[in-house]
Amino acid sequence: MDDKAKNDASQLNGTHSNGVTKKRQDYLEWPEYFMAVAFLSAQRSKDPSSQVGACIVNQENKIVGIGYNGMPNGCDDDLLPWSRSADDKLDTKYPYVCHAELNAIMNKNSADVKGCTMYVALFPCNECAKLIIQAGIKDVIYLSDKYHDAPEMTASRRLLNLAGITYKQFKPKQGRIVIDFNSINHPGLKTPNDGVADGVLQHSLFENQVQSFSGTQRTDSQPALSKRRQTKAHWPSSEMALLASGRLIKRLPLLIGFAAVKNDNMEYRVVIINFSLK
Ligand SMILES: [Zn+2]
Repeated sequence: MDDKAKNDASQLNGTHSNGVTKKRQDYLEWPEYFMAVAFLSAQRSKDPSSQVGACIVNQENKIVGIGYNGMPNGCDDDLLPWSRSADDKLDTKYPYVCHAELNAIMNKNSADVKGCTMYVALFPCNECAKLIIQAGIKDVIYLSDKYHDAPEMTASRRLLNLAGITYKQFKPKQGRIVIDFNSINHPGLKTPNDGVADGVLQHSLFENQVQSFSGTQRTDSQPALSKRRQTKAHWPSSEMALLASGRLIKRLPLLIGFAAVKNDNMEYRVVIINFSLK
């Protein structure tokens, strides 16, 4: 990049001062980064009703394990049930599915995870609390505590308290993080749709779509979804119109907490990590 372009870029980034290019100020801080990794990982989940991710970090801020909820290795997830409720518990997902915390611990790429911190989208259940304790993890940072009053969570808090493991709710500084695959072609430049007006519009569209989705397909009164979530989402009500560069690029299927826009070359361009778990 030539100097003019650098200056233009740094001015747009708000860092230009007296002709000296200063470091970028709006970089992602560690906690946001690790929680975003957990949320991105969750998008690998095939569970139609709940996508949870976990990210284990050591004391040097290095990621040593990532996981999301899914069926055990080698067990065909098209042959196992994904329902939340059924007359026979064996026809629900619960006896089979591995939680994100378990997978993150088992996927570790270090000798152990002693003294590490786990970032996880949902407060861990009691079974995961046991794993966290036995693995030697010392801190848990969670985002949502929506099942706070469930017995599993009460038992989990009891175990974590007794084991001296700290747990803290994560309050993101920003409600969402946008990954723009096109940004590498325009370093330092903010995309036009980062503007406040568009951002609000996008956010409100997103929230509305999430609400209408929850209302039409995810309420408990609806028949339980028994099939796994497909790689290509095809929930009709989950389509979301996303404006980029002030124009509608494409209506697209929305995965909860995740949106992908294909540009004119049919490349994925924007991923939105939305920290608001529904
Ligand atoms: Zn669990």
